[in-house]
Amino acid sequence: MHELSIATSIVELAEEEAERRGVRVVAVHLTLGQLSGVVTEALAGSYDIATAGTLLEGSRLVITEAPVVVFCPACRERRTLPSVQLFQCPQCGTPSAEVIEGRELQVTALEVE
Ligand SMILES: [Zn+2]
Repeated sequence: MHELSIATSIVELAEEEAERRGVRVVAVHLTLGQLSGVVTEALAGSYDIATAGTLLEGSRLVITEAPVVVFCPACRERRTLPSVQLFQCPQCGTPSAEVIEGRELQVTALEVE
């Protein structure tokens, strides 16, 4: 299961950081792009399994979903897509496949105590 292995790597990373700093992690903040290929619900569900028996047991995974941003060649601007179904500029309708943001899978913060 794809999401479980991702959850495991997130937990390993956070565990390392917690050990290094001598703190207890209470929450992990993660930014997930809409094109990351990760199912948010599945990842959230895998987190409890991945943290069981680790230093992260009992902590929370806080997921922020990041929208897809493309570059519109006609407007020469970055445009945030209202939907990932349609890769075109929401302003002028020009199709764009130049994705600038939306593939992120990144731990942005650790809440510690
Ligand atoms: Zn445009």
